[in-house]
Amino acid sequence: MGGATLHVGLQNPRIANTWLFSDGEGHTFLVDTGHRVERRSLAVSLRRAGVRRGGLTAVLLTHRHSDHAGNAAWLRDELRCPVICHAADAVTLSGREPAPRLARRGANAAYDALCRFEDRFPARSPVDEVYDEGDWRWGFEVISVAGHTRGSSLLFHQASGTLFTGDALLSGVPVQRLVARLTLAIPGFSEDVDACHHATRSFLRERRPVRALCAGHGPRVTRRLPQLLQALCAEPSADAAQPSGAT
Ligand SMILES: [Zn+2]
Repeated sequence: MGGATLHVGLQNPRIANTWLFSDGEGHTFLVDTGHRVERRSLAVSLRRAGVRRGGLTAVLLTHRHSDHAGNAAWLRDELRCPVICHAADAVTLSGREPAPRLARRGANAAYDALCRFEDRFPARSPVDEVYDEGDWRWGFEVISVAGHTRGSSLLFHQASGTLFTGDALLSGVPVQRLVARLTLAIPGFSEDVDACHHATRSFLRERRPVRALCAGHGPRVTRRLPQLLQALCAEPSADAAQPSGAT
């Protein structure tokens, strides 16, 4: 990963990952912020990692869902750092537009209960800046994979080959984070899952040199990544692949 360092922000995330990422050039980011019910764990993890007020360059959000953006406003206040996301999610996250309803989009009963919770308690946060798609700041490329949410995005740190995927590409089933399985966005949690799958596969077909995959749910994956990622887009119906090992 060159001079970049990466570790999970939460000690034991049960709902969604946060990724504390230093780029080796003096910038430190938190990619996604977890759900607000895990705020105490996040605070402890950041303290142990030595992150103090003013120590984060920015909070980067892969999308606005409450298990990813749930602590954004709190971090912005506590650490005095900007919150950045895609413009299409910023309008909802900031409260200017209502969130599209997720419940009863075809999820199973357990997931539909989570969707109802999301509909009732969406994350809210001021947004200080929005992404430009393509080559962006601090060595990141921003790829829109609209469809999970309107602003769902992949964040690719080019120098280290680190790909942050949020819920557009998962390495574990939400909640059960230790199940290692590469999967495209889950239909029941997505506003337009076909659009999200299409955009994600289009990116994967470009065969970027991804050396570490950091999803919103599941472990970091580094082994056999080229094969695993190509398997996801080889067939229109092939939306999952089994990694032999995840790190
Ligand atoms: Zn999501």
